[in-house]
Amino acid sequence: MLFRQALRTKPSKLTAVLTAVALAVAPVSSAFAQQKGPPTLRDAETEQLLREYTRPILRAAGLEKQNIQIVIINDSAFNAFVADGRRIFVNYGAIMQSETPNQIIGVLAHETGHLAGGHLSKLREQLAQAQTQMIIAMLLGAGAMVAGARSGNANNGLANAGAAAVAGPQEMIRRTLISYQRQQEENADRAGVKFLTATGQSAKGMYDTFKRFTNDTLFAARGSDPYMMSHPMPSERVAALEEIAHSSPYWDRKDDPALQLRHDMVRAKVSAFMEPQDTVYRRYPLSNDSLPARYAHAIATYRHGDLRSALSQIDTLIQTQPGNPYFYELRGQALLEGGKPAEAIAPLRKAVALSNNSPLIEMLLGQALVATDNKAYTEEAITILRAAVGRESEAPLGYTQLAMAYGRKGDYAQADLASAQAAFLRGDNKTARELASRAKTRFAVGTPGWVKADDIVAAKPLPGQSSN
Ligand SMILES: [Zn+2]
Repeated sequence: MLFRQALRTKPSKLTAVLTAVALAVAPVSSAFAQQKGPPTLRDAETEQLLREYTRPILRAAGLEKQNIQIVIINDSAFNAFVADGRRIFVNYGAIMQSETPNQIIGVLAHETGHLAGGHLSKLREQLAQAQTQMIIAMLLGAGAMVAGARSGNANNGLANAGAAAVAGPQEMIRRTLISYQRQQEENADRAGVKFLTATGQSAKGMYDTFKRFTNDTLFAARGSDPYMMSHPMPSERVAALEEIAHSSPYWDRKDDPALQLRHDMVRAKVSAFMEPQDTVYRRYPLSNDSLPARYAHAIATYRHGDLRSALSQIDTLIQTQPGNPYFYELRGQALLEGGKPAEAIAPLRKAVALSNNSPLIEMLLGQALVATDNKAYTEEAITILRAAVGRESEAPLGYTQLAMAYGRKGDYAQADLASAQAAFLRGDNKTARELASRAKTRFAVGTPGWVKADDIVAAKPLPGQSSN
């Protein structure tokens, strides 16, 4: 399952504000320009792969205890950055454009170099001193400007607003927030190579990727490419990187074929979910019968309405890899979205079991249980969804489904609270406050539910978010 959502965290913490700031930097894809809140993508398979890519690097950097998360941004441009010390942001475009695990791992190693190098503490200080409202306005402007430049439409309102925002004296702050000093870049390169070497991996992918951004005339001509904006890539830097990367004993080491296959599967999935159908079939023509191509075909088939054909394609995928939880997840998602929630339950149960209880897949199972309209499933749905939101608190889907399950049970206090939490995570603060206020009147004062509702009522909206 791959779905789009707005990411929110508890607003009382500085990190939450910084998260919102960081996401605002990312240019918003045109399809989601109307959407409230910063768009991210959630997908159990992709996130699991990125976690596995990152874990050894973070361990080598001494950051394994920091619980650093990878956030996938809904943007097809190549970009990756860190902004709040707790998350590494990766555009799905960076995954799509990385042909090997080693290439994206190299980028993640470089970003980890920024984290480990403390390139953020100064940033944080500056952020804390500057007015939050101003920073967000500026970053939104910068993001919009990049988006406007990329869409080739300099005359739209967003692009003009962006140009106005960066033309001011705040230019320096903007630069400080979204880009690094050259010295920091070189240090992050060096640290990244060190982490790769310490984990027995080649830095060739990192070098290849960065070289592409210096040499490729397409990128160079565009100038405003987000990755080049946030990570200046002069040719001397790439030359220095080549030298240290080449000196690694692992320069020639190739990715494990099994890992390469998982990488290709994720790229096929992202393409099939995010790109127009003709693009998907251009990348993965029907004559291509590799597993990734068949994955892309199955997803594209279900997305474009042919459930029967999609299901038979998914079944052949399952025959090829019977232990792959994401094939069962796809089967369940296709059935659920095809209006057959009762049939979706069995494959989703299997996917939950095979994935060691992935909370995102549990939410999908909860959704299927609720969608059956069968009251016999209500308690089970509540149990599963509560467990899921307990481990994955930033996905609104879990709370939306929980609200429906509680509503079915007649527990309107819990239903209102869960609806409020979902609205809050979507960045819809007005609805969140209204629902939380109503929930407060349904709970006894001081009970855990009342306290949670009260927290939402009292939460201050983030500047630049929907405070209306
Ligand atoms: Zn960098």
